[in-house]
Amino acid sequence: MYQLLIDGQLVDGARQLDVVNPATGAVFATCARADEAQLEQAVAAAKKAFPTWATTPFAQRSKMLLQWADVIEARADEFARLLTQEQGKPLPQAAHEMGGAIAVLRTFANMELKPEVLRDDGDCRIIRQWTPLGVVAAITPWNFPMLLLMMKLAPGLSSGNTMVAKPAPTTPLTTLLLGETAADILPAGVLNVIVDQNDLGARLTSHPDIAKVSFTGSTGTGKRVMQAAADTLKRITLELGGNDAALVLDDADIGVVAPAIFQAATINAGQVCLAAKRVYAPRSLYEPLCDALAQLATDAVVDDGAKQGTQIGPIQNRAQFEKLKEFLADAHANGSVIAGGAPLDREGFFIAPTIVKDIPDSARLVQEEQFGPVLPILAYDDLDDAIARANDSEYGLGGTIWTSNPERAIEVAMKIDTGTVWINKHLDLPFDVPFGGAKQSGFGAEMGREGLEEFNQSKIVNVAL
Ligand code: NAD
Repeated sequence: MYQLLIDGQLVDGARQLDVVNPATGAVFATCARADEAQLEQAVAAAKKAFPTWATTPFAQRSKMLLQWADVIEARADEFARLLTQEQGKPLPQAAHEMGGAIAVLRTFANMELKPEVLRDDGDCRIIRQWTPLGVVAAITPWNFPMLLLMMKLAPGLSSGNTMVAKPAPTTPLTTLLLGETAADILPAGVLNVIVDQNDLGARLTSHPDIAKVSFTGSTGTGKRVMQAAADTLKRITLELGGNDAALVLDDADIGVVAPAIFQAATINAGQVCLAAKRVYAPRSLYEPLCDALAQLATDAVVDDGAKQGTQIGPIQNRAQFEKLKEFLADAHANGSVIAGGAPLDREGFFIAPTIVKDIPDSARLVQEEQFGPVLPILAYDDLDDAIARANDSEYGLGGTIWTSNPERAIEVAMKIDTGTVWINKHLDLPFDVPFGGAKQSGFGAEMGREGLEEFNQSKIVNVAL
């Protein structure tokens, strides 16, 4: 039985939660689920642990976090298998996610924000110091349960904050296993892990003893987090939804870019905040691109992520599976489906990779975040018009440009209203480079020095000399 981590103890939940393997649609494990009293215990434990952890020298915190990274690494295969079982992604992608999570932990365990002298001119000395905030809540979604959580825990804990982590209710197990590995290494209360069924988020994000909420999830929930945090003016980082455009320029080589765009749209079964969610292609390349993408979709191996050779696993949960059926209905009603177009006729939450052409910009599939392997391809006649259509979205997370002329693409990238634009690549997220969304894709940064600073208070000490 997977247990909660509260005040250094692995404990049963006041309730229990069944966890479904999306490749079968059947329950395969049961885990602890917290009630409100256990949430209160977790927050109280983190509050009690904060003064000591905050004043523990960085080198000692770093040593413990690096030791934790070693323990996770020693069990990385077990983590990866569990991740595939609860999340659905192919095992090599689960192993890759674990490798990324461990690398993020090591990166921030070695990154210290030291005091800096901002001015020292004989009249005055101004020093900037960075101090931890207090108890931080880390709330994560179900698409990358380990990597996205570690992007919060690693900078949060290395900075001297104490934390309460809460995963999505459909992928709680790897987070609970992570708590188990931390129990013997981190001092009691420094990290607490609770699980809910979408019922404790509101309390956590409004709790007076929580100083900051680091949230990754949908834009709708992000708005609720911001409202809940307002009363006590908590620090918030919001990494929210996206509807990224893949913009193909007229000099692109279809043989090169079609497989890359297909991968950008279908990795993790399209359940990536930064997935390519709509493609804009010049009229001259439209038909060949549609044909190439349709062929890739038809050839893709869709199966249980635990099976060797699987390229695309199931949709993570039933609710998202049902939502994707609505997008498929929209595609059939408003566009021309040239590959896929239906769930697979088998148990589990599988959707055939789907390519849709001749669909208007006004269709739901183009306007909203589908978060699945259903990709609309739109034609354009004028590049400025394509840029305007790509920007005509409430979202502003990422985007890609595909071309044989990267210099030309940089100019185009400068006009795309998002936090990240990749040219001829996708999902390259170096740990030392900040990442964050524009518009309703959120605000604040994760990763890089900026990401680390967000877990700290900047304090200015100004001395008359
Ligand atoms: P979600 O918003 O439904 O849930 C995210 C988390 O919020 C879960 O842990 C959930 O239990 C919790 N939650 C639910 N109600 C809450 C409340 N009232 N207060 C606080 N927390 C609450 O998102 P999801 O469906 O799990 O994830 C998919 C979404 O996440 C997509 O929109 C995707 O684009 C986005 N996402 C964004 C990024 C990014 O970095 N920008 C990364 C991954 C996923």
